[in-house]
Amino acid sequence: MVNHSRKRLVIGNWKMHGDTVFNSELLAGLRSGIADASNCDVAVCVPFPYLYQVRSLLEGSGVSWGAQDVSRHEKGAYTGEVSAGMLADFGCRWALVGHSERRSYHGESDQLVADKAAAALAAGITPVVCVGETLQEQEAGQTHAVIERQLAPVLALGADSLAKLVIAYEPVWAIGTGKTATPEQAQEVHAAIRRQLNAAGVGQVRVLYGGSVKASNAASLFTMPDIDGALVGGAALVASEFLSIAAAQASE
Ligand code: PEP
Repeated sequence: MVNHSRKRLVIGNWKMHGDTVFNSELLAGLRSGIADASNCDVAVCVPFPYLYQVRSLLEGSGVSWGAQDVSRHEKGAYTGEVSAGMLADFGCRWALVGHSERRSYHGESDQLVADKAAAALAAGITPVVCVGETLQEQEAGQTHAVIERQLAPVLALGADSLAKLVIAYEPVWAIGTGKTATPEQAQEVHAAIRRQLNAAGVGQVRVLYGGSVKASNAASLFTMPDIDGALVGGAALVASEFLSIAAAQASE
């Protein structure tokens, strides 16, 4: 049965895309169509230089916004890093942490990801903790073990912290590849994540699916009881496509 007790959340991850002209068109498109997605919380996570533009163009729109990374450190000699306090000072609501592109290209460890989540929470920002297995790990039947390993230091943050964060399951083999996990495949992993969260004493954490989500597959994914929304990459760069995902109705 579909669980309606958690409000759906759809977050766009712009990755390293955009410029001021492109962004303003995309944001105008989101503003004008967002009313159709009233059953869903909608957010965009954008490159740091565009946070200012996004803040001003989304003001009062109902679309919230955030960053794609955050430092584990509060302040100090960490050239190039951006602290959670700075993001909070600016009004930022969300921060992605542990996206697979950060884990693989920047060597981010499971512990570092958990530290970043803790730093975000301490500043009042909601971390969206990304987990997911590679194709090799999936083929070796290691999906559940990998997710458990990635989540372990996050679960160690404790129930009070867990209750305030969001988890995104993003199988690496489905990100930007056009290959989506079937709703059943994704549900199986989401149910396992939910069991881990329940065992840690939290029941209402939103668990999003990410990996080639499009308007054409969103509704079938949202039909699954433990899929509470989506983290969307490529399709978040087209306003109509992103809004259709946010407005997709789970077929029950
Ligand atoms: C992502 O970047 O988090 C993602 C899921 O990308 P895409 O939707 O393009 O697969």
